[in-house]
Amino acid sequence: MHQPAIPHLAAADPELAQLIEGEAKRQFDKVRLIASENYVSTAVLEATGTVLTNKYSEGYAGKRYYEGQQFVDQIEAMAIERAKALFGVDHANVQTYSGSPANLAVYLALAAPGDTVMGMALPAGGHLTHGWSVSATGKWFRAVQYGVRKDTGRIDLDEVRDLARAERPKLIFCGGTAIPRTIDFPAFAEIAKEVGAVLVADIAHIAGLVAGGAHPSPVGHAQVISTTTHKTLRGPRGAMLMSDAEYAKALDKAVFPGLQGGPHNHTTAAIAVALAEAARPDFREYAANVVANAKALADALLGRGFDLVSGGTDNHLILMDLTSKGIGGKPAAQALDRAGIELNYNTVPFDPRKPFDPSGVRLGTSAITTRGLGVDQMPQVAEWIDRAIAATNDGDDPAIGTIAAEVSEFLSAYPMPGWA
Ligand SMILES: *Cc1c(COP(=O)(O)O)cnc(C)c1O
Repeated sequence: MHQPAIPHLAAADPELAQLIEGEAKRQFDKVRLIASENYVSTAVLEATGTVLTNKYSEGYAGKRYYEGQQFVDQIEAMAIERAKALFGVDHANVQTYSGSPANLAVYLALAAPGDTVMGMALPAGGHLTHGWSVSATGKWFRAVQYGVRKDTGRIDLDEVRDLARAERPKLIFCGGTAIPRTIDFPAFAEIAKEVGAVLVADIAHIAGLVAGGAHPSPVGHAQVISTTTHKTLRGPRGAMLMSDAEYAKALDKAVFPGLQGGPHNHTTAAIAVALAEAARPDFREYAANVVANAKALADALLGRGFDLVSGGTDNHLILMDLTSKGIGGKPAAQALDRAGIELNYNTVPFDPRKPFDPSGVRLGTSAITTRGLGVDQMPQVAEWIDRAIAATNDGDDPAIGTIAAEVSEFLSAYPMPGWA
């Protein structure tokens, strides 16, 4: 049963309540390897479901456009103070609705339409909002894009430097959605400084690892830090912008009134809860375990002949090229889902196939680590993946069902926040 329980919803809208119960059970029964997902705590779930959703509070604490902010002001201030303390930054804005609008606010604050901006290309592991052509950021700005080396699968900082020198971008984004290796923030900072660009570290994926000391921090290197709150940081769906004092005003003005209306106060409260959780010693242990699990899973997959982009991982994420296994990323992801293992198909660098039918899959260990799986369980996860892909290649559908039953039985021993 969903935890916290939803009896009022079940009475008022049984059909919808059933679907939510179904989703909770699905999350309980599956090995969830989508690298951007997690399980939030029951405390975070409770905060998102409160009466704070009823309140409008355009503006910032002490300067609101609506009355009745006696409690909301304090809640937002708590979230801000916790973000500043956890990450060690001068300034934090906790109102951004999600990662994509947070990045848009950075452009609005620090660049003008038509300006040159630089980011990692989407097919190489960057994010849409780092200037990819179909994104507003690629349409409204002159975006130049860097990638990874074909031989190493890693960012080529010489290429980044050459491109930055030639194009003189106003903003340089580092970070991405499918980067299995440590981001070299000092190196990016040096390049940005040389060409007079503002360095924006988008740590959406790795924020929890940064907070937990399992990935170097961009603080002191990037003037602006953008992050979601719902990936490794294990908070509600939302985002934050953090910065040096110098950029505080411009970023705040860009978020409101530049881009958004009223902040989502229930989300702000849940962010505050998640930030307090991330400041606890057990979260440092969690972050270390996420990385240890990813390395153990990568080793087990390599041992079974899987081809990993860059040969492994430094963080929570694994990018796997399935070409040598004779299967595309999409049919593999679909078969794995039926086998109780949830991940997403993904392009690999220099992918000869199309984004909707690419060569690879992306895996992450944030959610299964929250669930309590450890390095000793990773060989079993790799074995299921291997078996499910072999069964798909052999057209052996019953074998997929057998794996799903094994997965569900196995996971029943691991409690899930949000399910009781
Ligand atoms: C997930 C992600 C985003 C966007 O976050 P949404 O909340 O999905 O809009 C932005 N940048 C990076 C690097 C991400 O991984």
